[in-house]
Amino acid sequence: MENNHNVDETIAESTIYDDPDKKLTKMLSALRLNVSSKMLSMMQSCINCGLCAQACHYYISTGNPDLTPVAKLKKFTTVYNRYFHPVKSRLPLIRGNEASLNSKLKNLYKAAFEDCTICGKCAVDCPMGIHTGEVMILARSMFTSIGRLPSGLDEPVRVSIKEGNYAGLTGEDVVETLEWIKEEMEDDIDDENFKIIVDKKDAEVLFMPHPLEIRDIPFLLMYYIKIMHAAGEDYTFSSYGFDTVNYAYYQGNKENMMKIVQRVLDAREKLQAKSIVLSPCGHGFRAIRFEAEKYFGKKHKFPVKSFIQRVEEYVTSGRIKLKKDVFEGPITYHDPCNIARRGGIIQAPRTILKTLTTQFVEMEPHGALNYCCGGGGGLAATATTGQIRMEMGKAKAEQIRKTGAKIVATSCFNCLTQIRSLNEHYHLGIEAKNFAEVVAGSIIS
Ligand code: SF4
Ligand code: SF4
Repeated sequence: MENNHNVDETIAESTIYDDPDKKLTKMLSALRLNVSSKMLSMMQSCINCGLCAQACHYYISTGNPDLTPVAKLKKFTTVYNRYFHPVKSRLPLIRGNEASLNSKLKNLYKAAFEDCTICGKCAVDCPMGIHTGEVMILARSMFTSIGRLPSGLDEPVRVSIKEGNYAGLTGEDVVETLEWIKEEMEDDIDDENFKIIVDKKDAEVLFMPHPLEIRDIPFLLMYYIKIMHAAGEDYTFSSYGFDTVNYAYYQGNKENMMKIVQRVLDAREKLQAKSIVLSPCGHGFRAIRFEAEKYFGKKHKFPVKSFIQRVEEYVTSGRIKLKKDVFEGPITYHDPCNIARRGGIIQAPRTILKTLTTQFVEMEPHGALNYCCGGGGGLAATATTGQIRMEMGKAKAEQIRKTGAKIVATSCFNCLTQIRSLNEHYHLGIEAKNFAEVVAGSIIS
């Protein structure tokens, strides 16, 4: 990680755009590949009303006008008009000198990779529907094309593409870990037929874990397995594909993103599973569920769900029964941006949590209007952005504090990590839990 830290400092400090003409040509190719007419019209339709400021947790947390969505949008349009616009960029004097180019590109780099978590809240509040996050993803794609990106979005993607998962695990690692988990769980699960299923053909559900759950946090997997076992789910893991994560989405690099998605789709194809259920991970859900469909231009032929949707089905159909108030409330729920606002999964967590607690409290705002936790956009993956994440997570910390909750449940690996860090940083006195932990702990067996 120390090496990564140096890499990021070097990017921030260096004159990054030596040989500018060559770099601009590559960036223009990436722009052409990724821009849409909708995005071009978005860039030109801002009426400077300022309404987006209050949507952005960066501005809410700091009051800094340079961190409003419109300020970030303008950093892009300035660069676009000067260097890439088909007409304006040819006007005499508009390009400026090399120092000016470097300074403008550095400002945009910071806006795209550090000052925006691609949470999408500004798009909801903007009367013109401008999604600054989408524009920042476009900027990211241009920087990625010239090899300028944070270490946390670089190395994990290389490893994912080379090894098939970003933690560099092998299929044998997965099988061995699951065997160990089974032994650990046998005492807890009073069922002689209990097993953990791997590489079963024609299962109803291919369960796609997060590789860190396999490598570092197996107790999270235990919660998922306990829930699926209690529901009598016909599920399987795959020893070929076992990675929900997709940091290439946050690179803005569709080619890399699809290589990672394809591994998941191939795993399903090999096993002929009837659906894919993803471990709670916001951006991974976005990439496989929505971005892949956009890329292919057609819908998946099978359902792709986040685990929380499947658990809601277990609860509402009576496949699992939950005891109330095993966990001391109040309990609140943090809506991950890619699961709720950008994924449409808002009711499921509330149905589940209200079944297991009499003290459910909402954050304000919540659901589609919830504030980002500050760890999205790939920021949680890069060590050097820790300070930014804490500073920009202040809005979320205040939301949580106002609920008076003892437990904050959520359904995204990165959100969980970020909220745990916020808890320490802002002394919130809460416990942050994956929703599956409270479900697994409340099951009536
Ligand atoms: S997408 Fe989210 S973080 Fe980015 S500018 Fe909009 S509100 Fe701010
Ligand atoms: S809300 Fe939309 S139109 Fe208004 S300043 Fe922000 S980006 Fe521009």
